Amino acid sequence: MELFKPMDIQSQPSKVAEGRAEKVKCLIIGSGPAGYTAAIYASRANLNPILYTGLQMGGQLTTTTEVDNYPGYPDGVTGPEMMEDFKKQAERFGAGIRFGIATAVDFSGKKHKVTIDDKKIIEADAVIIATGATAKYLGLESETKYAGMGVSACATCDGFFFKGKDVAVVGGGDTAAEEATYLAGLCRKVYLIVRRGVLRASKAMQDKVINTDNIEVLWEHQTVDLFGENGVEGATLVKKMGTPSEEIVKIKIDGFFLAIGHTPNSDIFKKYVDTDSVGYIKTIPGTTKTNVAGVFAAGDVQDSHYRQAVTAAGSGCMAAIDAERYLSELK
Ligand code: NDP
Repeated sequence: MELFKPMDIQSQPSKVAEGRAEKVKCLIIGSGPAGYTAAIYASRANLNPILYTGLQMGGQLTTTTEVDNYPGYPDGVTGPEMMEDFKKQAERFGAGIRFGIATAVDFSGKKHKVTIDDKKIIEADAVIIATGATAKYLGLESETKYAGMGVSACATCDGFFFKGKDVAVVGGGDTAAEEATYLAGLCRKVYLIVRRGVLRASKAMQDKVINTDNIEVLWEHQTVDLFGENGVEGATLVKKMGTPSEEIVKIKIDGFFLAIGHTPNSDIFKKYVDTDSVGYIKTIPGTTKTNVAGVFAAGDVQDSHYRQAVTAAGSGCMAAIDAERYLSELK
């Protein structure tokens, strides 16, 4: 189960450090399923990869308790355990796993310079960006209080724990609509808490929501608090907040799902690497290549759509293969 807000792997870009650089063939930034899988493939291809973990070693999955949908674990596994397995597997083939945060990059030359922790410089022939994305939260104190006790930002990961129960999803976009319909198949009742009077989701997803009997859309409602003894038991909402007809509404729920968007951890790369309007790194379809030769992107930092551990791992594999081919052509 998702525990709480994952920390950004890196923050806003800072200055590129100066001085002697350590030269590496393949640098991987990020330690989620994409980064570690890239490290496994890159080390097996003799690229001697160095992987910097970022602040949150193991990425978003370390904020999860049970992972039941990753193939190969028939009895499920906890997120931290699974990421430890990924790490060990990468180390078995000689990947250099180091704790450190990429704080700035310079992709203007043929060699790609990455500053670690504002001081160390790595000069890499190929860089794989696997810095992930961070789920947005409302910022309520009670979200922290009930971390892992009913608050989640991933219905696919945690919905199962709320089988037969009543839950709420916050948001009005495609993710919220998708998560609400997914949860409706598992739960007794799903409240969809929408802050405006319309959904931002696509028409098809809106139709699905409206036509699902056990979803109740609470239009123009905003969540101000969560309550419960030993976990979430309900939420306090305000209807038509800030208007003369403002009204307090309390709902009884066991699970509270955030679906108000994700922020891709791409800030430090944006000067060089093309991103979409939200910040997801653009890759050439069917590949992990970015607009910068020798810079590849894998996992959630380039995927607003699937965002699953297994798809991230798959793209990590692709990035290592793309990097290997790029490096072999450099010779
Ligand atoms: P979006 O940014 O599209 O939607 C976020 C939603 O959360 C909006 O409805 C927004 O409200 C609401 N919201 C934001 N902040 C708050 C807040 N503080 N309180 C209450 N509500 C809030 O994010 P998604 O994750 O839904 O989608 C991201 C992208 O991925 C989109 O392009 C989407 O189309 C795509 N996607 C596509 C899917 C598919 O095609 N199957 C599935 C999932 C995502 P408001 O509308 O008022 O701004």
